[in-house]
Amino acid sequence: MKIEIIPCLSDNYSYIICDEQTNTISIVDPATFSDCEKVVRKYRKLDYILNTHHHVDHVGGNVELKRKYNSKIMAYEGDKNRIPGIDILLRDNEIKKIGNLEFKIILIPGHTSGHIAFYFYNEDIIFTGDTLFSLGCGRVFEGTHKQMLKSLNKIKNLPFNTKAYFGHEYTKNNLNFCLKYDPNNTALKNKSFDINSKLERTLPTTPTSIGEELKTNIFLRCNDKVLKKTLNLEDSQDHEVFTKLRDLKDTF
Ligand code: ZN
Ligand code: FE
Repeated sequence: MKIEIIPCLSDNYSYIICDEQTNTISIVDPATFSDCEKVVRKYRKLDYILNTHHHVDHVGGNVELKRKYNSKIMAYEGDKNRIPGIDILLRDNEIKKIGNLEFKIILIPGHTSGHIAFYFYNEDIIFTGDTLFSLGCGRVFEGTHKQMLKSLNKIKNLPFNTKAYFGHEYTKNNLNFCLKYDPNNTALKNKSFDINSKLERTLPTTPTSIGEELKTNIFLRCNDKVLKKTLNLEDSQDHEVFTKLRDLKDTF
């Protein structure tokens, strides 16, 4: 499995997945036709389009790519009326294949009600769309904060070495937020060197890993006693901590 990162628009990431054994080419969340087609062109085919959710910066390239390459579009069944060009309806926990690559659909509502992740368990790779970012998480638009926290907890339980490919380059702003509210976290300070060095060279910070995020991403640490104390939320439940942090981040 080979993954190619395509930066799109101002801060989106689309991803090409190439299964070299079967020469099956897929794309996750084509933000725009023009940015993605420049890269797809060199493969001269596009078998599948996978969408994590219905927002236009994740499905914007669907229809034109499908028309040009006769691709099949896979997305969540519950969003069949708002995913342009959808062909294959996906269910929660279902196992699917693109070429020889197997993946599991994980329903992670909160950012949108039908948001899904694509988990390639044999390769330890997950595509998290706008639910998990490096050092952050997506805004809660269509779900509740409780739902979003539950969705993040599903991702948290994957093996530490799982690489997470996310939908937006928000890492610098997320880092500043985490540093502000979790200032004594040494793992976070260490990760900040790595992030800054990548960004100085205009390299993407995607992918991150679940193990690293568990130590550094404040939104995955809502159950951490030390963090709760720092935030003066010692007696609060995890979802209350999450709601507080998400509200603070919305205006950060
Ligand atoms: Zn979105
Ligand atoms: Fe987005």
